[in-house]
Amino acid sequence: MDLATTSLRAARTRADLRLAPGEQFLAGGTWWFSEPQPGVTGLVDLTTLGWEPVERVGDGLRVAATCTVEQLAAFPPDAAWTAWPLVDACMDALLMSFKVQGQATVGGNVALALPAGAMTSLLAALDAVAVVWTPDGGERREAVADLVVGAGRTTLAAGEVLRAFDVPPHALRARTAVRQVSLTAVGRSASLVVARRDADGTVTLTVTAATPHPVQHRFASAPTSAQVDGVLAGLEWFDDLHGAPDWRRAVTSLLAHEVVGEVTA
Ligand SMILES: Cc1cc2nc3c(=O)[nH]c(=O)nc-3n(C[C@H](O)[C@H](O)[C@H](O)COP(=O)(O)OP(=O)(O)OC[C@H]3O[C@@H](n4cnc5c(N)ncnc54)[C@H](O)[C@@H]3O)c2cc1C
Repeated sequence: MDLATTSLRAARTRADLRLAPGEQFLAGGTWWFSEPQPGVTGLVDLTTLGWEPVERVGDGLRVAATCTVEQLAAFPPDAAWTAWPLVDACMDALLMSFKVQGQATVGGNVALALPAGAMTSLLAALDAVAVVWTPDGGERREAVADLVVGAGRTTLAAGEVLRAFDVPPHALRARTAVRQVSLTAVGRSASLVVARRDADGTVTLTVTAATPHPVQHRFASAPTSAQVDGVLAGLEWFDDLHGAPDWRRAVTSLLAHEVVGEVTA
C-alpha cells in the first residue's frame, strides 16, 4: 500500500534519528505499508544507517535491529551453538512469504510487539538483551522478554530506537526444544513454546504467542510436571481470531510439557 502523503528521510547518522512531529521510524516497512497509517506524516529510514546485520561479539552474538529475518537465518553459526536450530524454527513460525522475510527486520518484529512475533519469541528464549538508543544520545539495555509488555505494547518511549540485540553465549550453547501451533495449517502462531537447558542445569521455559507478552520462568533444575503446571496456571491467555484463550491454554500446556521433557530427558 502506498502512503502517498508521507515524506521519507534516510538516516545516515544518529543525529538524523531525532523525530519531527508526525514522523516514525521505518525499517523493512512490511507492516507500515500493509495498512493505512493515519497520523503518520513522515518516515525515517533506519536501514540506511548501515549497521552490520549480525556480528560475533566474544563468544556471543549481536544482531542489528535492521537485520532481516532472512539475513539472520543465513548467518553461519559456530559449531558450539547448539541452540541455533531455534532460528529456523522461529523463522518458519512467521506467517510470511519469502518476499516478506527478505524485508522484515528483527527490530521491526520486536517493536511491533505482536504476540505472534516470532523474532521476539526467539530472542526472549535466548535471554537476548535489547540495546536501545534514547533520544538524549544515551543508551539503555533491557531483556527482550521484559521489553514487550503487551499486544502491540513495548517499553520503548517516543523517539527510542532499537539498535541491536545481544545474545549471550550460555544461551547459544544450550540445549533447546521448540513447539509451535496454529489454528489453521499455515496460520499465525497461537502458541510458541521454547525450553532451554543451560550447562549449569537451569531450565528456562518461554511462552509466547499464547500470551499477550512473553512469559519466562526459570527452574534451578529439571522441573516436575506439577511445577510446570504451576507456572502455566497463573498466566493470562491471549484472545483473538487466531485462537480462543481456553484452547491456547490447553495446547500450551501440552507443548510446555513436551519441550521440558525433551530438554531434560
Ligand atoms: C504477509 C505478512 C505476514 C506477517 N506475518 C507476521 C507474523 O506472523 N508475525 C508477526 O509478528 N508479524 C507479522 N507481520 C507483520 C510485520 O511484517 C512483521 O512483524 C515484521 O517483522 C515487521 O518488521 P519491519 O522491519 O517490516 O517493520 P516496519 O514495518 O518497518 O515497522 C514496524 C514497526 O516497528 C517500528 N520499528 C521498526 N524498527 C524499529 C527500531 N529499530 N526501533 C524502534 N522502532 C522500530 C516502526 O516504527 C513500526 O512501528 C506480517 C506482515 C505481512 C505483510
